[in-house]
Amino acid sequence: MDALNLDPGSYGGTYKLVGGRPSLDFINTVSWPETEREHDWLSSAENAKRWFAAVGLPFPRSKEVDLSALHATRRMLASALRPLAHGEQATASAIATIGKAAGHAYQARLIDPQTLTWHWPAPRSATEALSPILLDAAELLTSGTHERLRFCPSCDWLFEDQTRNGQRRWCDMADCGSRDKSRRYYQRSKH
Ligand SMILES: [Zn+2]
Repeated sequence: MDALNLDPGSYGGTYKLVGGRPSLDFINTVSWPETEREHDWLSSAENAKRWFAAVGLPFPRSKEVDLSALHATRRMLASALRPLAHGEQATASAIATIGKAAGHAYQARLIDPQTLTWHWPAPRSATEALSPILLDAAELLTSGTHERLRFCPSCDWLFEDQTRNGQRRWCDMADCGSRDKSRRYYQRSKH
């Protein structure tokens, strides 16, 4: 998996699209959540713009983008989906909040008279740009897909296990998978 070209600032790691769907990749824009190494990839408008472009979603043109709206929605989605990925129950209020926000996003859709497909008007704000991500999260929750929701045991990024046998364990084999392999090799050679 290739790293996405986001400016890491002074941070040493890289960001990759590993989630398999936009709502999970959006939550994963925090690396090593709730640890000392925690890093926010959406701390600049430029990175946010690049991230939206990479997942194929429109982003407002204006230079003034309310990043706090992105961060608040990300926290809200993580509070519902992270427990589920860990095999725990999400709180009813977290699920209800997603349902409500997704309902608003759904209402804002229009049918394009030319292509006869649903679309959203070009987003004028970060909040409007979040619509497809909210609907994706609602879809994940209500389609049975949450059974395939996993967390990486090394870094806690979330992903949908799309393998046929449901055995995907790592966010990225080349990254966390090999880190684990080398650690186990080291432990073996020590004993
Ligand atoms: Zn990982």
